Amino acid sequence: MASVAPREGFIAPPRRPVAGSASSVTARPDETQPLQAPAAWQSQLARAIRDPAELCRRLGLDDAWRPGAEAGHALFEVRVPEAFLARMRPGDPDDPLLRQVLPLGEETAATPGYVADPLAEAEHSPARGLIHKYAGRVLLIASPACAVNCRYCFRRHFPYTENAPSRAQWDATLDTLRRDDTLHEAILSGGDPLAASDRQLGWLVERLDAIPHLRRLRIHTRLPVVIPDRVDDALLGWLAATRLQKVVVLHINHAQEIDQAVIDACARLKNAGVTLLNQSVLLRGVNDSIDAQAALSERLFEAGVLPYYLHVLDPVAGAAHFDVPDDEARELVAGLRKVLPGFLMPTLVREIPGEGSKTPL
Ligand code: SF4
Repeated sequence: MASVAPREGFIAPPRRPVAGSASSVTARPDETQPLQAPAAWQSQLARAIRDPAELCRRLGLDDAWRPGAEAGHALFEVRVPEAFLARMRPGDPDDPLLRQVLPLGEETAATPGYVADPLAEAEHSPARGLIHKYAGRVLLIASPACAVNCRYCFRRHFPYTENAPSRAQWDATLDTLRRDDTLHEAILSGGDPLAASDRQLGWLVERLDAIPHLRRLRIHTRLPVVIPDRVDDALLGWLAATRLQKVVVLHINHAQEIDQAVIDACARLKNAGVTLLNQSVLLRGVNDSIDAQAALSERLFEAGVLPYYLHVLDPVAGAAHFDVPDDEARELVAGLRKVLPGFLMPTLVREIPGEGSKTPL
């Protein structure tokens, strides 16, 4: 694949930028390249709902929801693509997809133990855009943008501006990877790494591909779920071009998220040689029942995806209302084990800052 280097590396917008807008995904084109029309998925990103009042109106919610939605939005902005909105039930404030994206007044309450950086990631960032917590693998913040803003996100306060490297900083970050031959896996994260353009991602993956000790490329993403059209020919092109083994870890919390378009997107990824896994978060009011978890695992398998991790909530400020206590989580998983075959069981884990791996509960 031809090398196409962005002039300034990836994107450095203020706070969490707007994916798909002229100021992020399509910004700073290589001046040697003609300007291209945005891909279909980029147009969908640009049209995502970003107004809490519009979100309430589109879902037919009572006006009583508006003040809380506005208050939460002021702390962490609303972002919901139409393709995800279409899977929600109008008029139902308890819809499990809506609950993941609707800001609530509870987000403004300070809760002891809930902090801005619950995983202490700032202490594990040896270079801009790079987080190194676990042996053998390293995480790259490939895009500061997301296609959807999940209210429980443990990076909802992440200083993306400070971690958006310039082109020169990307070169330095890649040098860090080249020098450390204990690294075998590069993980693209964000934000959502697939919010970056395919030109940027192709540039990065080509350089990762050239690091001999790297064996695997892992991508943590929610984009194929919330905008299935993201899995287009351009994406499949740079995936197919790399010698690295490819793993995509999706983030799906509820069976209702998996419609036919998501199943088709998963099939395209599998046909490109990608291993598909899913991680989810145990969320009060979204998926905190045996029935919901069993339905999720069954539906994932129908889409060709294996359940991987079920995370308990990271204690991020603004998300305490999603918490499910550990004892209840263990009880739920014990019940789940009675109704699912072992290969459909996610591992219940907590991420504890400073530990060398996720901690099973
Ligand atoms: S959970 Fe993932 S997709 Fe959702 S806001 Fe956080 S990083 Fe973005």
